[in-house]
Amino acid sequence: MKIFTEPKKLQKWCAARRMEGRKVALVPTMGYLHEGHLSLIAEAKRRGAQEIVVSVFVNPVQFGPNEDFDKYPRDEKADLAKCRAAGATAVFFPTPANMYLDAHSVYVNEEDLSKGLCGARRPGHFRGVCTVVAKLFNLVHPHFAVFGQKDFQQAAVIRRMVRDLNFDLDVVVAPIVREPSGLARSSRNTYLSDDERKRACALSQALFAAASAVKAKGKVPWKAERAKIVRRLESAGLVVDYVEAVDGETLAPVKRLEKGVAVLLAVYCGKTRLIDNILIK
Ligand code: AMP
Repeated sequence: MKIFTEPKKLQKWCAARRMEGRKVALVPTMGYLHEGHLSLIAEAKRRGAQEIVVSVFVNPVQFGPNEDFDKYPRDEKADLAKCRAAGATAVFFPTPANMYLDAHSVYVNEEDLSKGLCGARRPGHFRGVCTVVAKLFNLVHPHFAVFGQKDFQQAAVIRRMVRDLNFDLDVVVAPIVREPSGLARSSRNTYLSDDERKRACALSQALFAAASAVKAKGKVPWKAERAKIVRRLESAGLVVDYVEAVDGETLAPVKRLEKGVAVLLAVYCGKTRLIDNILIK
C-alpha cells in the first residue's frame, strides 16, 4: 500500500495508474476510521476498483470557528493498519499546509442543496467540503468516488457539484453502517460517555419508527410524525438541532412521509452533535 503526503506525488501516481488502464476509486475521509468507512472501501472493491485511494484529512476549511477541529480524533497509525487490512492500495495523508498553500483563495460553493439542514446550522461547512472534495477529485481523478449515506446532505451536494462542474466520475453512495444498538457509526461517537451512548440510540429508534409508520399506513402526515420524533428525542435527554423531512433528491421540504422521502435529524447529546437519517423505501 502506497502512502502519500504530497499532493503532486499522489496526482502523478494516480495518473500513471489510470494510464495503465487500472480502475481507480477514491474514498474521502477525515480518518479515525471505523466500520462505516471500511464499508466504503469494501464497496469500491465490490465495484471492481483496482486502485482504492483513501484520503485521510481533517479538513480545517469545513469546520466553523467554534467547532471541534482541534479535538477531532486522529490516529494515523491505526488508520493505516485498517486501510491496509481493508484492501486500500494507497492512502493520502496531506497536511493542511500542503492542501492549502499560502494565500489559497479559490473555493467551491454549492448554492442550493447546501442552504438548509446542516448547511443552515454550520455556515461555510459545505463550501469547505466541496472545496476539499473538488481538490481530491483533481488529484486522484478517480473513475468513481464512494461516500456514505450517513452524510445524506453531503452526498446530495457532491452529486450536484459533480454534475454542475462536469467532473468525469461517478458518485457512489453506500448505506449507513450502525452499531448493534442502532447508533450510526461515527468518529464523533468517541466523544460520548456510556450514558450518552445509550441515550443516542433514540436517534435511530425515532427514524426506524417513522419508517415503520409509513410501511404500516402508507402516506403519513409529517407534522404529527415530526412531533413524535421530537418527543422521543427529548425524552431521551437530547437537544434537537433539527428534524426535517425532505425529498430524497431535491432536499425540498415535504408535507408527507412516503417512498423517496428522507428524514434527517441533528441533535446535541451533551456537547456532541450527532446526525442521522433514513431514506424511506
Ligand atoms: P468522515 O470521516 O466522517 O468525514 O466520513 C467519511 C465518509 O465516510 C463520508 O462519506 C461519510 O458519509 C462516510 N461514513 C461515515 N460514517 C459512516 C457510517 N456509519 N456508515 C457509512 N458511511 C459512513
